[in-house]
Amino acid sequence: MKNLAVSVLLVLIGVAPFVSCQHRPDSKVAQERFGILPGGDTVVRYTLTNASGMRVRVLNYGGIIQSLEVPDRQGNLADVVLGFDSLDQYVRQSPYFGAIIGRFGNRIARGVFTLNDSVYHLYLNDGPNSLHGGQFGFDKKIWTVTPFATDTTEGLELHYLSPDGEENYPGNLDVHVTYTLDQHNALRIDYEATTDKPTIVNLTNHSYFNLNGGQGTVLRQELMLNADRYLPVDSTLIPTGELAPVAGTPMDFLKPTPVGARINADFAQLKLVKGGYDHCWVLNTRGDLGQVAASLYDPENGRFLQVYTTEPGVQFYSGNFLDGTLRGKQGHVYPMHGSVVLETEHYPDSPNQEEFPSTVLRPGDTYRSTTIFQFSVR
Ligand code: BGC
Repeated sequence: MKNLAVSVLLVLIGVAPFVSCQHRPDSKVAQERFGILPGGDTVVRYTLTNASGMRVRVLNYGGIIQSLEVPDRQGNLADVVLGFDSLDQYVRQSPYFGAIIGRFGNRIARGVFTLNDSVYHLYLNDGPNSLHGGQFGFDKKIWTVTPFATDTTEGLELHYLSPDGEENYPGNLDVHVTYTLDQHNALRIDYEATTDKPTIVNLTNHSYFNLNGGQGTVLRQELMLNADRYLPVDSTLIPTGELAPVAGTPMDFLKPTPVGARINADFAQLKLVKGGYDHCWVLNTRGDLGQVAASLYDPENGRFLQVYTTEPGVQFYSGNFLDGTLRGKQGHVYPMHGSVVLETEHYPDSPNQEEFPSTVLRPGDTYRSTTIFQFSVR
């Protein structure tokens, strides 16, 4: 009777009286040793599963999504992200396969930015620019991982404390990333960060999707980007500052269009560097997690991915730098245009472009970002 009274009281004040939806640590999330880093750290691989058989494997190294298996129209599972079978390959040669990117996703021009009158110089790892957090970004860190489960989900809470001055970024940045797999084949990623000094932050995940089980190119897979505008770039892939309309150009993916339909078009923005797409699209969704920001569909097997995000932009990279030399999982060789990377994030080089939405994080504020990868078949 007393319990009932407490429950009624909690319902009245809007607090769920049941604990069943709360995270329970020490769940049954499977874990196994994946390898040992040269410095001696053990790398663990965690496996999230749901009742429909979808399976997501994550490493505590870089928070890497090492595999992501989803069914096709016939119910056959295939791994739809590129990656490696061995830790050694991730350490030696990974182009950020599946990793958490930080502190700053994509490029910062000349690796320089100014904040509160101080000038910060970052490591230049991409020609004249700094890319994806510098020399040893979040993709190369060991994260503390806590598995959890609820009645309907399995997940992982990842934590990393990036010390003040790491890669020359100011402030101790306390970062939490949560992966949650539900029963409806949605993988949700929540990012949260706080700092003790003004700093900049732009986190994302760098999964390379290929809905054909990671085999061959993605040129026939149909991409939709819910964006009327994109950011043209210079020859070093830094946005010029213009928000250009996609209308009438090969950058228009408002209607689902095969990735390869116009990839070789005579359009200057597609001829830069190796050729293909490597740009940020300005999402029409304006941070609304309820609207589809992007989708990818493989007409051959029916696999369908929809992306939802709170971020203002998505960097679509068509795997232009893949060249058939990387030997990936199950012996697959990854050719040029072998994947679609959809990095939900703030615009590249935001710290140097005042017109772009700010990526500054100040003490007392919390950086929050969410992206959902929803899989289904059609
Ligand atoms: C960049 C590409 C880069 C790739 C892998 C993408 O976010 O825009 O230029 O090659 O990441 O590093």
